[in-house]
Amino acid sequence: MSLSERDKKHLWHPLTQHKLHPESIGITHAKGAVLYAEDGKEYIDGIASWYTSAYGHCHPYIVKKVQEQVAKLDQVVFAGLTHPPVVELSEALINILPDNQNKLFFSDNGSTSVEVAIKMSLQYHFNRGEKRNVLIAFEEGFHGDTFGAMSVSGLSVYNGPFEDFFISVERIPVPNGENNNEVLEKLTAIITNNEVASFIFEPLVQGAAAMKMHDASGLDMLIETCKKHGVLTIADEVMTGFGKTGKHFASLHLHHYPDIMCMSKALTAGMAPMAITSCTEEIYQAFYSNEIGKGLFHGHTYSANPIACSAALAGISLLQSEEMQANIKRVIKSHQKFNERIKNHPKIARTRQCGIIYAIDLDVEMERYGNLRDKLLNFFLENGLFMRPLGSTIYISAPYVISDEQLEKIYEKIEFLLQKIL
Ligand SMILES: *Cc1c(COP(=O)(O)O)cnc(C)c1O
Repeated sequence: MSLSERDKKHLWHPLTQHKLHPESIGITHAKGAVLYAEDGKEYIDGIASWYTSAYGHCHPYIVKKVQEQVAKLDQVVFAGLTHPPVVELSEALINILPDNQNKLFFSDNGSTSVEVAIKMSLQYHFNRGEKRNVLIAFEEGFHGDTFGAMSVSGLSVYNGPFEDFFISVERIPVPNGENNNEVLEKLTAIITNNEVASFIFEPLVQGAAAMKMHDASGLDMLIETCKKHGVLTIADEVMTGFGKTGKHFASLHLHHYPDIMCMSKALTAGMAPMAITSCTEEIYQAFYSNEIGKGLFHGHTYSANPIACSAALAGISLLQSEEMQANIKRVIKSHQKFNERIKNHPKIARTRQCGIIYAIDLDVEMERYGNLRDKLLNFFLENGLFMRPLGSTIYISAPYVISDEQLEKIYEKIEFLLQKIL
């Protein structure tokens, strides 16, 4: 029996309605930008396996570093103990983060990094004797699937069963350049009328909202205003971190840096689940006390796992290498050229790019295509591409090491789709 068949017996996949989508493709190995399936088919990984494998799958340097670490120290309690990979990682990461970030708190995935950020922001005020109980977030944001993270995400039918249990959140539209002042007024009114603890946002690109992009100067104004009112700012860089926007972090495109940052996904280069919530020294100081209860009593068993830390450390050194930076520049230019080629196509409503992320909104009547997303997904699979369109948006966020030929293959298939299929 194939993996696909055996899979159906006991496995329950994420974000999947199994009655409508019973099939899973068996992937046996991966290299660079390519996934290899059990039936011999190959797929170009156009989304870097949910933005994790930024430097390519099974990169030999990362594999070597992880193998060395596995043989030395596998796992150790991170309360009261420490180890070389986490200490080296802290130094390397602080070195590339915005210069106001100074402390790192570890957890296991993007959602938990957001939970930690939310708890940090609530307890920060609590420890200072202020009870602030409202958070501000962007409409259509996505911050994960645990309760706090769901609460600050945009409202969606998927979260319907849980809405009654959410924490208090006020939502504002993203600044698009034209509405910047209106959004700022809305934010100010919310801050004036509520006890606001923090403002959480995906900086510059909202991944799950189909790679919606917003105005950096508009976001800067919002952060500046929050700072004036003692409202903490949380940049969820789980998707945008580690080179996606052309800089190491999206927050580095801003003048006002966030107080707290969430990282996961490409943090470990796709090798292991791990997440970090970083913060300023000022936030850390609000927890630093002779009173035990003022500490941040949050912890995950696998916090700062040495193997995951070694993968992250190797990933950061690849990110900083001239070779990887040249790859990032090459992919950015390549998308820009492709955009010139197709942006005026009648089947395209609009296109947008931020760093290596490129998105196309199709101008098609959804009804005419029944389930458009499935049609697009299947078209790409049949053509050797693993892409996951969001609604009528097709986007590319491939590993930086994707070759020019592989990029051209993605472009040609998109063009073929526009000319012949839609
Ligand atoms: C993926 C994602 C998350 C959630 O991360 P998980 O590891 O899937 O829990 C949170 N925020 C953003 C911006 C993300 O893209």
